[in-house]
This record gives sequence, C-alpha cells and structure tokens, in this order.
Amino acid sequence: MNAMDNGPNSSKLEPAPRPLAGTPCDRLRAVQARIARAAADAGCDPATVRLLAAGKTFDSAALRAMAACGQLEFGENYLQEALDKQAALRDLPLVWHFIGPIQSNKTRAIAENFSWVHSVDRLKIAGRLSAQRPPGLPPLQVCIELNVSGEASKGGVAVTELPALAAAVSKLPGLRLRGLMAIPAPAPDMAEQQAAFRQVRKAYEALIAQGHALDTLSIGMSADLEAAVLEGASIVRIGTALFGERIKNA
Ligand SMILES: *Cc1c(COP(=O)(O)O)cnc(C)c1O
Repeated sequence: MNAMDNGPNSSKLEPAPRPLAGTPCDRLRAVQARIARAAADAGCDPATVRLLAAGKTFDSAALRAMAACGQLEFGENYLQEALDKQAALRDLPLVWHFIGPIQSNKTRAIAENFSWVHSVDRLKIAGRLSAQRPPGLPPLQVCIELNVSGEASKGGVAVTELPALAAAVSKLPGLRLRGLMAIPAPAPDMAEQQAAFRQVRKAYEALIAQGHALDTLSIGMSADLEAAVLEGASIVRIGTALFGERIKNA
C-alpha cells in the first residue's frame, strides 16, 4: 500500500497540496531569481531587497532545510508555533520576525523572542512591546502595518491614522520604527497589485518627508513579489513559493 491508495478516511481528507517542484534550495534560488529579475526591471540593486521566509504551518525541519540553503531570516504569524520552532532551531543563527496579528497577552513573549515585528497597528500594542522589550536587547525593530484595502476585517491602521501612530511609536524607547508593512487584497493583474503597493510607498515617503528616518518597506508575497519590487520593496515575505501550499488557509 502506498501513499496514493485511498485510506479509510480518504473522503474526509482535504485535497493534497500541489506537489512541490525541486529541492528547498532549488525553490530558494527560484525566488531569488524572481527578485533579481524584478530588481533589474525596476533598475535597483537586488541586494536592496531582503527575502523573509514566511514559515507559518511548516515545521522546524522545513525551516532547517531552508536555512541549510542559506536563508536565515524567518517570519512567523503564530506565537506558540514560532516559539516551538525557535527552540528546535536554537543552534542556527536565525533572525526572527513576527508578522501576524498581535493580541495584548502575547506582547511580552514577542518582545522577548523576536528581532522584528511587522504588524504593529495600534499604540496600545506598541507601548506594551516597548515596555516589555528586555533592557539587555537592542530595541525591537518595527514596521507599522498599513491597511490599504479598506477591509474592516483585515489588520492595519488606516492611512488617515498613520501619521499620529507613527509619531507616537517613534517616541517609544524600546522600539525602533523602520517602516511600513502591508498586505493588500489579492489582485489578479500586476497593474492592480502595483497600484495598491504604490499607496503604501506614498504613505512611506510622506512619513519620511515628515522627518521619520525609515528604511523598510515590507511588501510583496509569493503572488505579487514582482509588483512589490517594482514599487520599492525592501523586504518581501515569501511562504508558498518557498515551502509549498499550506493545507489550511492559514
Ligand atoms: C503567510 C504570509 C506571507 C506569505 O504568503 P505567501 O502568499 O504564502 O507567500 C506573507 N506575509 C504575511 C503577513 C503572511 O501571513
């Protein structure tokens, strides 16, 4: 009996994820090549675009395999899952970014165990992260998440609220405000993707014009990384193209 045979519960199984092409290193090189091509089209140095591997739902073995190919920066969405993987990968020199929604009761562990947080969208959370950042560590590097799709259900601060939030966050001693993150609604064509990212870039440039010393635009995922690079992405957050499709829509 092999894995293709229908087991007793086969009617209840979710559809299998599409088989992944290549080894982890092949997939990493393919994503790096996409970034390099987009950077060439944008006329920018590919070294200015950092790749963050978004590992949610994938286990520590999958991350370890990616690290063995040279990928050392990882983004995680779920605190307990992330802490388990950090414990399993302690022997590696990894940089951890928290990129998921943040509940108040999770801020202490996030402040203690991550170098970056991309998903700051309210002052209460920022204040807790700052106060709970251990004094022996450098300030927590943060991006404010901007909501450009106007969807009430999605995270992120509205463009109109951004200047006040950025001003307040930049005063918190335990944090260092680096830039903006956004997750626009999926759009089928590149022009639409670019239009959404352009709104993020405009908001980012407006903050710089107001005196904020920012250097990080965290935009672009597997389906829209080219559009993001064309709009000036400095970090792209890539899950599916590196690890394969997630079983649950997580
Ligand atoms: C899952 C996730 C990603 C990666 O998405 P893919 O489409 O799988 O590349 C990027 N950013 C955030 C915040 C995520 O939750």
